[in-house]
Amino acid sequence: MPEHDPSLLRAAFDESPIALLRCTVTDGAAGVIREANPAAAALLGRPLEALPGLDVATLLPGLDLVLPAQAHEDVGGWPQARVLAAGAEHWAEPRWIAASVRALSPAASGAPDVAAALVVLHDVTEHRRAEQHLDRAARHDPLTGLINRAELLRRLGAVDASTDGPVIAVVFLDLDGFKLVNDTRGHQVGDELLVAVARRIRAAIRPEDALARIGGDEFVVICPRLEQAQDARAVAERVRATLDQPLSVEGRSHRISMSVGIATAAADAVDPTDLLRQADMAMYRAKDAGRNTVRIHSADMDAELVAAELVREALQAALAPEAQPPTPGAAGDPAVAGLLLHYQPIVAIGTGRLAYIEALARLRLPDGTLVFPSQFLPVATRAGLTGRLSETVLRQALAERARWRDEGVDVPVGLNLAPGQVFSASFAGDALRMIADAGDRPSNVVFEMGEFGLLEATGPAQLTLRRLRASGIGLAIDHFGTGYSSLGALRFLGPNRVKIDRSFVASIPASPADRAIVTAAISAAHALGQRVVAEGVETHEQLAVLAELGCDEAQGFLVAHVLPAEHLALAAARWAPGTLERATP
Ligand code: C2E
Ligand code: CA
Ligand code: CA
Repeated sequence: MPEHDPSLLRAAFDESPIALLRCTVTDGAAGVIREANPAAAALLGRPLEALPGLDVATLLPGLDLVLPAQAHEDVGGWPQARVLAAGAEHWAEPRWIAASVRALSPAASGAPDVAAALVVLHDVTEHRRAEQHLDRAARHDPLTGLINRAELLRRLGAVDASTDGPVIAVVFLDLDGFKLVNDTRGHQVGDELLVAVARRIRAAIRPEDALARIGGDEFVVICPRLEQAQDARAVAERVRATLDQPLSVEGRSHRISMSVGIATAAADAVDPTDLLRQADMAMYRAKDAGRNTVRIHSADMDAELVAAELVREALQAALAPEAQPPTPGAAGDPAVAGLLLHYQPIVAIGTGRLAYIEALARLRLPDGTLVFPSQFLPVATRAGLTGRLSETVLRQALAERARWRDEGVDVPVGLNLAPGQVFSASFAGDALRMIADAGDRPSNVVFEMGEFGLLEATGPAQLTLRRLRASGIGLAIDHFGTGYSSLGALRFLGPNRVKIDRSFVASIPASPADRAIVTAAISAAHALGQRVVAEGVETHEQLAVLAELGCDEAQGFLVAHVLPAEHLALAAARWAPGTLERATP
């Protein structure tokens, strides 16, 4: 080392913007302050002259001030700084200080017999705050300030059976119809609504319950310390009921409900992802059960999930572009699996003539089980397969219609459309092209669709409907009278047919009220030039009332069962007018 000018060192120490302390060494650590520079005084928030004589370890409790063993050698860099909270009494707010310590050569210490240490202090408070901010951001949802999915799973993973037991519950909350609010009222209102919902939920749960927002409109509550699994239901009910009163957002009141799923576990047997998945599954059950309700996860649901998975796989295979319709055969033969159609005639009540034949889809699994639409349609919807389902059904139905025609029965075929399908811009074009490719005419096809969601149909859906009508395709409103039906739909959608839901058909003999509704629907449809079909006609009594009310056509077990094409025997079928008894020649 070259000779140093002591006045240079002095100036460097005093003027340095870096906080420096020269200390004694006690037990291998920095001890009493001998000298501090102005930067150190400023950093520590004390007068310069107050520092000498103070013990650094007392002044900065918790800081690791031990001299590194090799410090007398050149270790090529400062020893690792330790960061800890320093006492709050010196600063308005606690600050975070990092220190590095190294031994000074006896020459530099100024006293050859005394070991000395140089302590360099860094104020790392801002850095620390930024880190905390990032850490918070990583664990929280910025909109509501609630914890996020990652943090929720972390907390579930950290459940401690000794304090959180005996039972812990995960309550999964999903808003019903939130997307509609977002789409119609705008994201700003949607966001504020979510914040208001979070507040409501928070107010309904215990302080020790954790609340997370884990997706757009999905919230999760963790309830520790429950006595038994059933206790979770009360919590869930209370939370659900908080939305019974409308929320006020931007001066408007909003009604929104939520579907709630619960899963519970013994606190010593928590599998975080599993528990969350079970609660999610129960929530879906609540949705299926009509929303605004609570469901508890059960082992049955796991079994159903496995079944749904099998259905999804089978459906995916059945709807693959290269898939063939299934062939009759023994179970286990892969060719038995696939999508097949059964058929049911719609017959004119007055004349007994065939009006058209509705195709009803079935899915056969590789083990031969026949799966009905009530089971596979929800799966298809969730897997985004409804478009391909309709295409496959249309192709098969057109092929079947061609065979009937060859047998001398030239009758239109009816297909069911999934809700929302007409919202697809390409739907009408695709369907018309498929009909043309099959060498058929649009007027030989009837599309049946529920009117749910169509009342608010805008742009593309209106265009699709107009194109379909203009092409001559028949349109029927399915399940009329249920859900959101209105007589207005008859005018707006302009169908050729209205199918009265079978719940009305079942009740008209006994219920004058339902009879009045059906009468009104029939007269409205007739005024608009539309035919009325009764679904699910099972008894002569129902048929007699329907005939009396002027209903045009009937479908149901009384007329004909739903059958595979080969059992329909359409060529031979005759229905006696008025009674619609199948008259075998
Ligand atoms: P839907 O359009 O109301 O079809 C008639 C349903 O009523 C059929 O059930 C049929 O088996 C049943 N049915 C017929 N006559 C009677 C009767 O006299 N009494 C009773 N109780 N029921 C009767 P399925 O085949 O299980 O179909 C259920 C629903 O699934 C259909 O209701 C339709 O909305 C939908 N669906 C069927 N096939 C398809 C399809 O290819 N695509 C789409 N998207 N949906 C389909
Ligand atoms: Ca939702
Ligand atoms: Ca139908």
